[in-house]
Amino acid sequence: MKITPFIETKRLAIKLRPAAEKMVKQGHPWIFENSIFKQNEDGKAGDLAIIYDNKKNNFLACGLYDPHSPIRVKLIQYKKPSQIDEEWFINRSIEAFKIRQPLLETDTNSYRLFFGENDHLPGFIADVYNNVLVIKLYSHIWFPYLNWIIPSLIEITDCTAVVLRLSRSLQSKGETFGLRDGQVIYGDLKNEVVIFKEHGVLFSANVIKGHKTGYFLDHRHNRKRVGELSYNKTVLDVFSYAGGFSVHALQGGAQNVTSLDISKQAIEMAKENALLNSHKGAHEVIVADAFDGLQDLINQKQKYDVVVIDPPSFAKRENEISRAKKSYAKLAKLGAQLVNSKGILVLASCSSRIVADDFFEISEEHILAAGRSFEIQDKTYHDIDHPINFTEGAYLKCGYYILD
Ligand code: SAH
Repeated sequence: MKITPFIETKRLAIKLRPAAEKMVKQGHPWIFENSIFKQNEDGKAGDLAIIYDNKKNNFLACGLYDPHSPIRVKLIQYKKPSQIDEEWFINRSIEAFKIRQPLLETDTNSYRLFFGENDHLPGFIADVYNNVLVIKLYSHIWFPYLNWIIPSLIEITDCTAVVLRLSRSLQSKGETFGLRDGQVIYGDLKNEVVIFKEHGVLFSANVIKGHKTGYFLDHRHNRKRVGELSYNKTVLDVFSYAGGFSVHALQGGAQNVTSLDISKQAIEMAKENALLNSHKGAHEVIVADAFDGLQDLINQKQKYDVVVIDPPSFAKRENEISRAKKSYAKLAKLGAQLVNSKGILVLASCSSRIVADDFFEISEEHILAAGRSFEIQDKTYHDIDHPINFTEGAYLKCGYYILD
């Protein structure tokens, strides 16, 4: 298969400063530019970077060189050298698929097959929506290898079309070899809106224009659970996007579900997704900023049996952490005021820079500050198709609180 023209790569020999070397020995996938202590020659995106031990000069790991990123080398292979060839990628695909197998035994045909670093493929995301594979690249390092990777992915997923998505930062820097964001690189995509199933509930995603790869697969287990908690209940879904939580709640037999999002387009998707499934409950929508919208609902003395608050990442950069914590605090306090007695407040965070313990502590402190006492029903983390193998890979956490 010829997705790109042949892109030549070479091998670089690299040695690291002691602290970075120690991290590599522990299996960390990132080598920052300032940790490189010796490099035999300049590299291009996707060149193989072989990391040698400073003292013993033996092989430590191998990665792909990224001149466009401060994370200069992204590691893909540790301890034992291995030929990085077509077979290596086939093995990675098989391994990744095996991990997802239990999920695919449920009534679900949407899943993340490659979760970047966590599947030893830094900056490489592969999501499947029914029979469409959406690949999102966050780094140029993968271009030389696409002709090998894509066929193995098609084979293992049985997809009939492949869509390529390119991150904004990737598009603004080096060469893309004629590839465009949103390009169909294999097969025939009949409709850019693809319908798929998540634990028996139908959804649709725009795989060409939607956020990331079109949908957020990561909360699947939490959405299923909210669905199970919603029978005969009133539900508020804040930052609803395409209605992930809302539609599961309706399908779970909620009397009434309100989806709130700042984006009119997201709310339209939520309405359409609700209509893909048959349900008796009413679906209401609010287009508003969440902080203002929640305050308005409090002023109107509204209450719900279940309130879900799943905001976007508030700390995309290091210097946003303290503001992000304040936002989580505010949301917990606002949300808590809208929950009926014995109702459930579901608070989620997808900021990897705010660790789970801090997030839960902030949430709990501010539920109390709203004058509500609580019992922790559960705390959940990543679903099967979002495995974690390094600290920064963990980002998702979700607390279930039963309020007095
Ligand atoms: N809960 C969703 C995912 C949320 S993604 C799911 O399960 O799929 C984050 C959403 O927050 C986006 O739809 C975005 O439009 C919305 N958003 C961002 N800032 C917002 C704000 N200030 N108020 C309300 N919605 C906001």
